[in-house]
Amino acid sequence: MIASDEYDVIVIGGGPIGLSSAYHLSKRRARTLLLEQFTFVNQLGSSAGVSRQFRIPYPEQYMVKLVKQSIHFWDELQSLTSVPLLDTVGTLWFGDPSVHTSEGNIAEAEAALKAEGVSYTSLDRKALEQQYPFRNLPEPYVGLFQAQGASINLQATIETLLASNQNSVHTTMKSNAPVTDIVRTDGKFHVTTPLGVFSAAKLVLTPGPYANSVFHLLGFHIEATYWNMASAFYKVQGPPVKYPTWFVFQQPNGENGNEFYGFPEVSWNYPGYIRVASDFVIKPLDSPEQRTFVPNPRELAFTADWVRQHMTGLNPVPEFTSTCLVALSKIKNKELLIDFAPPSVPGNKDVVLYATGWAGKFVPILGRILSDLALDGRTDFDISNFQTGYKYFKVFDRATGQ
Ligand SMILES: Cc1cc2nc3c(=O)[nH]c(=O)nc-3n(C[C@H](O)[C@H](O)[C@H](O)COP(=O)(O)OP(=O)(O)OC[C@H]3O[C@@H](n4cnc5c(N)ncnc54)[C@H](O)[C@@H]3O)c2cc1C
Repeated sequence: MIASDEYDVIVIGGGPIGLSSAYHLSKRRARTLLLEQFTFVNQLGSSAGVSRQFRIPYPEQYMVKLVKQSIHFWDELQSLTSVPLLDTVGTLWFGDPSVHTSEGNIAEAEAALKAEGVSYTSLDRKALEQQYPFRNLPEPYVGLFQAQGASINLQATIETLLASNQNSVHTTMKSNAPVTDIVRTDGKFHVTTPLGVFSAAKLVLTPGPYANSVFHLLGFHIEATYWNMASAFYKVQGPPVKYPTWFVFQQPNGENGNEFYGFPEVSWNYPGYIRVASDFVIKPLDSPEQRTFVPNPRELAFTADWVRQHMTGLNPVPEFTSTCLVALSKIKNKELLIDFAPPSVPGNKDVVLYATGWAGKFVPILGRILSDLALDGRTDFDISNFQTGYKYFKVFDRATGQ
């Protein structure tokens, strides 16, 4: 007989990726426990706020491929709810064609889209200003439009996964259950929380920006930097304006990283307002503990200035400001880490993890990949570009904190 605190898999971290993992594990009838240190649907990790961008353009072909593969899993998730999860308005990437940023470069993205057979249209500056409500764009600016881009209703996505897990006989969920210790004996992991000790043969680690606080319990560490990102909404004024989801590539100007992104007006998030945000931070953090919930006023001011100069139909005064914390890998071009724990961890092949990067668009497919890895030790999806752990994870000594 199995004790009530024993499971097949324990998922640590109840954000959207952890919820998606539990959803896919429960589809495979695995007895799953999902542990969240705060409440579910919290605003304290990488899923704060409501909207995210779903986009196919990426400079790397393997990323374009993964987004394409994720569409099937979005459709599956959508079949579970009547609330629209995606508002398909298209992705517009535009700006200085010579700029290469952490998001990539317009020409590289076009090459990757072409290689994957994804249709898009190219635009010059004149066409950009004729077809979209942007203005005063400098002459060299060009753009690409990809019609499948969308605003993701991340909150509805989380709530859909939460409801499905709540209804599953295979899944148990516990909030206010921070994991403070993990020990392995007799081929099982024993996971300590203030609510008790729970055991399972397999672990899935999805702790978001708090990744190292969980990885340290198993004696390893990932190199990451932390961005406490500022965001704001701008009131729509005058005749209605139709923006797609968009991203602008520009040369940095001193401490102004000069990269911005935005959304159309959406019914689920401050209707009557449009979200525009900076895709840079003036000062990255070394650890999540350094974050505050106060948006950097200079990042907000740079964004408001861009709105004033280049967007029509908006009052350029930032309102409903907020922050969101994200961990980014220090490994070049490696935005997502999807892997087993490093070999230094006893039973490492029984520990699956996801950490770092912009993964809102991958929520439904990542749960499937992590559940495959946990239950089968492999997945049909090509994750070789994300399996960098063996080279880059560092050993962490809990006794010395180094
Ligand atoms: C400003 C901003 C804009 C973004 N824009 C986009 C975008 O446009 N497109 C896109 O694709 N992605 C985007 N992203 C990224 C995307 O939002 C995240 O990748 C995604 O929401 C992360 O989900 P998660 O489940 O990994 O992390 P989280 O939502 O952070 O969940 C992790 C959970 O683990 C819990 N946890 C941690 N440690 C423990 C522990 N010891 N015990 C128990 N629980 C624990 C945490 O409390 C947390 O709830 C953006 C992120 C930010 C911050």
